Amino acid sequence: MFIQVRELYKDFKLGKEDIHILKGINLDIEQGEMVALLGPSGSGKSTFLNVLGGLVPPTSGEILIRDYQISEMTENELCLFRREHLGFIFQSYNLISTMTAMENVALALTFAGVKKEIRKERAIEALEVVGLVDRMGHKPSELSGGQQQRVSIARALVNHPEIILADEPTGNLDSKTSADIMEMIYRLNREENQTFVIVTHDPDTTKYCTKVIHMQDGLIESEVSQ
Ligand code: ADP
Ligand code: MG
Repeated sequence: MFIQVRELYKDFKLGKEDIHILKGINLDIEQGEMVALLGPSGSGKSTFLNVLGGLVPPTSGEILIRDYQISEMTENELCLFRREHLGFIFQSYNLISTMTAMENVALALTFAGVKKEIRKERAIEALEVVGLVDRMGHKPSELSGGQQQRVSIARALVNHPEIILADEPTGNLDSKTSADIMEMIYRLNREENQTFVIVTHDPDTTKYCTKVIHMQDGLIESEVSQ
């Protein structure tokens, strides 16, 4: 199995109290799957995605990605692992406002230690994939919401990660733009065999997915493969 999650728990401290957010999640994901994660607000979807991506440590439980025990890595090991294997897409695009589209994408390669001469070339390639080469010199404020999200997707995939974790990637977009972005994600999933886990509120998104998971109150309530 490509990704294995076993008995995953996450508590947050609120004052003196521990609040239980993830309450024993078990999940298997195969390489190349596209998984939709649905559930009411507050059910723990973002927390689960962040723990899965090594951004937030679990309280207990296991996460195995290939043969890597994410849940037992040090912060340094996690950092390297994320750079090499994972890409993140957020609802708020988190672009740097003073940098152009190309520079925002290239920045991810700086962090990954890619040499300066090839960063620009690779960033342009990634912007080509998302259909934005003609906007590469624009700053985020000069781009529409859909275009900004395309830049953030280019940034997530510029290093060709095996796994992309997306938290409501179309949450701020109109329905036509959302459908375009989802078509693009689906194409990447098919062409590059990248594995996607996508938190979404949009039931339309599920038609692209191999697995649809409903979370409720920190647990997986149902899991349907399609
Ligand atoms: P969802 O993405 O499904 O809306 P979240 O995972 O964002 O849910 O949040 C689940 C619950 O965890 C919420 O009640 C939220 O307030 C709480 N929570 C999330 N992050 C933290 C944190 N860093 N500290 C304390 N509580 C948190
Ligand atoms: Mg959320």
